Amino acid sequence: MEGKKQHVVLFPFMGQGHITPFLLLAELIHEYYPDYTITLVNTPLNIRNLQSSLPPGSKINLKSLPFDASSHGLPPDTENTKAIPFHLFINLFRASETLEPAFERLIAGITEEDGIPPLCIIADNFFSWTLHIARKFGVFHSTFLTSGAYGSALLFSLWKYLPHRNAYSDEFSLPDFPEIRLHHTQLSNILVVADGGDAWSVLLRRLNELCTRSDAVLVNTVKEFEARGLSMLREQLQGPIFPVGPLLCTSASHSMGMDLSDWLDSQPSASVLYVSFGSQNTIRASQMLKLAMALEATSRPFIWVIRPPVGFDVRVQFKSEWLPEGFEDRMRGTKQGFIVHQWAPQVEILSHPSTGAFLSHCGWNSVLESLVHGVPIIGWPLSAEQFYNSKFLMEEVGVCVEAARGNRESSEVKKEEVERAIEIVMDNEEIRRKAKETARVLKSALKEEENNTNVGSSLRGLK
Ligand code: UDP
Repeated sequence: MEGKKQHVVLFPFMGQGHITPFLLLAELIHEYYPDYTITLVNTPLNIRNLQSSLPPGSKINLKSLPFDASSHGLPPDTENTKAIPFHLFINLFRASETLEPAFERLIAGITEEDGIPPLCIIADNFFSWTLHIARKFGVFHSTFLTSGAYGSALLFSLWKYLPHRNAYSDEFSLPDFPEIRLHHTQLSNILVVADGGDAWSVLLRRLNELCTRSDAVLVNTVKEFEARGLSMLREQLQGPIFPVGPLLCTSASHSMGMDLSDWLDSQPSASVLYVSFGSQNTIRASQMLKLAMALEATSRPFIWVIRPPVGFDVRVQFKSEWLPEGFEDRMRGTKQGFIVHQWAPQVEILSHPSTGAFLSHCGWNSVLESLVHGVPIIGWPLSAEQFYNSKFLMEEVGVCVEAARGNRESSEVKKEEVERAIEIVMDNEEIRRKAKETARVLKSALKEEENNTNVGSSLRGLK
């Protein structure tokens, strides 16, 4: 990519777990190619939020495309999965496809202004329709997978072979991976009902098919961490694949309040359990009760990022009846638990020496943020590829124990199971050792030693 003035355009999907790694990729490209013009594109609200979070003096251009949420049955001012109830996700996907003409005009405008088309479009796999525009302007098209390789490979295959219902067994396998048996509880709500003809199946099969034709695929992972997942992904995609991770926030998106900071400082080393289900997922009210009971029963210190349960608007006032009677008061009184409503400074919490484990939905950013700090995981996957992230972390890496699985009525969780998983991970020296070793592997991928020797595997891919 050396030589004359060049322009790279990045286009993430409108979810926090997508926008953050795209921004980090933009910054990394800028670091290695300071002469390139780098433009990150999104909808107005996401761009406004990015503008306020970019470091001072950042050279990344931010461009917004017109977007009208309300004309797609979305509450006004909802342009990010973080603010949208799960059943409206399909509306956001449909609405996002209407960005195509505006994105094409943007590429045409850049081509006219620069005198040459952009060097490259780097798009989210949910925006793989950008391939048509890249082809029209003769631009190199790269897909950036913000999820891991193993989870992405399985998800590609799951959407390819539908449906997964089997009248005789709760298990099924995929033609691409005959050695893997998957259980029905390892399907998200959407995949359970997907039969090939429904709206989700039609949409995702088309997007995935376009994705397989991309000129190259970047993945937010590390070669030494996901060797098998990467080779599974190679079977699914045509273009060359480059692991470029771990692209992670190193500073907190929200600073830690004094109360939380003091509370964490007062806890013994590696004693605190951090509980969070990511930027958009929630659990059902009955699961919330069981989780609260399990946390209290362990008597271990915990931080829980809590949101209204499934079925309620994420922004409504939290009701104490969703927790066991007197729970919040008791946790405050005994100082056993620190409850944060809505959003916590996750990176700061995971990097604090008092944090000992993370009960997580296994979203890929959360996985990387935890493991890069050597914090083992208690898995509670809820949707999408989170089931396969958790499976990979348990079976291949040995840094995770599953406490529960899924969000469906049929996957009711038991208090004792959650309690047991917490006890295993908090007390198991081998799991902790493996998490520390994984941190070393992840960190070395982006390491550049002086005099350019021993360059990490992800940096070699980027260069
Ligand atoms: N996050 C955070 N505070 C919260 C919840 C989430 O900072 O209270 C951040 C988290 O650090 C991660 C992202 O939001 O970077 C969530 O991404 P992930 O891939 O883990 O899950 P998703 O939200 O996409 O399901």
